[in-house]
Amino acid sequence: MKLTDSYGRIHDYVRVSLIDKCNLNCIYCNPKNQSFNSFKRESILTYEELIRLIRILVRDLVVKKIRFTGGEPLIRKNILTFFQMLSALKKEYPFEVGITTNGTQLEDKIESIYSLGVNRVNISCDTLKQKKFIAISGKDFLGTTLRAIDRAIQLNFNRVKINAVIVKNVNDAELIDFIEYFQNTNINIRFIEYMPFDGNGWDNSKFISWKEMKSIIQNRFELIELGNDGNIAKDFQVAGKQLKVSFISSISNHFCDSCNRLRITASGEIKDCLFSQSKNINLKEMLRNPMCSDESIAQNISNSLQTKWFKHPDASELVNLNHNNMMSIGG
Ligand code: SAM
Repeated sequence: MKLTDSYGRIHDYVRVSLIDKCNLNCIYCNPKNQSFNSFKRESILTYEELIRLIRILVRDLVVKKIRFTGGEPLIRKNILTFFQMLSALKKEYPFEVGITTNGTQLEDKIESIYSLGVNRVNISCDTLKQKKFIAISGKDFLGTTLRAIDRAIQLNFNRVKINAVIVKNVNDAELIDFIEYFQNTNINIRFIEYMPFDGNGWDNSKFISWKEMKSIIQNRFELIELGNDGNIAKDFQVAGKQLKVSFISSISNHFCDSCNRLRITASGEIKDCLFSQSKNINLKEMLRNPMCSDESIAQNISNSLQTKWFKHPDASELVNLNHNNMMSIGG
């Protein structure tokens, strides 16, 4: 059974949050340093529960790609054990595995992660300046993040992606610097529009749209538009380089009509949109109920998708929602 919503959108991509806690407190994500359930170990899905859930997703619900996120996924204890368990599952049911990480804990794990079959790595890095890195994230981790990016480029990942959330008057002056810094690599740098979430202080004066970002870059570099392959990003090649530049325009030009993703939080809630309320089924309870079969879990996930909205509200409404936090959802 394919995961299909009431608008016919097939969902073959699931983002799973491994932990709702992060070692950074980025101004646009978790400025109040909130952590959610993870201080109680039993409140988040165990590795065994996660593997069972992923088996159901890839075997019974035809999911083709799973991305692990958080919080910061790589701060979870014994994370390499989890990737080992996952690697065994991948031999039974081939599916793509990605991680989204802030890169601060990646340098010494990246080779293991690569050899355990993680295909894609997205590393968040919002600035190339040390003081600004500290101002944005509260921690001094730029050096280790950039070294992890270097290692990722040397390994043969299926294109390394760098995510930079661009906030006006914070890091918008670095758009060109990013391109210059990575111009001789074959990575994909993705500039992300700043999205409003509960308590993250979003307002219009801090927002810069993807079109504005693009025109700043075009003052220096020629960008050649690429077909977007059903991809959510607007993709460009930097002329004469292997470097790819993309823009994620969730706010100024939403891409909900081609949405193929579902999110599962660290505590087993289902979110069918970054901005929606959780669905009222809880996978943790189901996974811990000895009477609950794999078929029933699969059916419940599929049913939960039937109330997915067609598109998320506009930014003016999103700022008033108080049930969303990237840390707890898993970005
Ligand atoms: N800790 C990991 C990381 O930093 O990549 C994974 C979790 S983080 C919530 C996932 C992604 O969400 C990051 O690329 C982050 O920059 C992005 N993000 C967080 N808050 C955002 C916001 N308000 N607007 C746009 N992107 C945001």
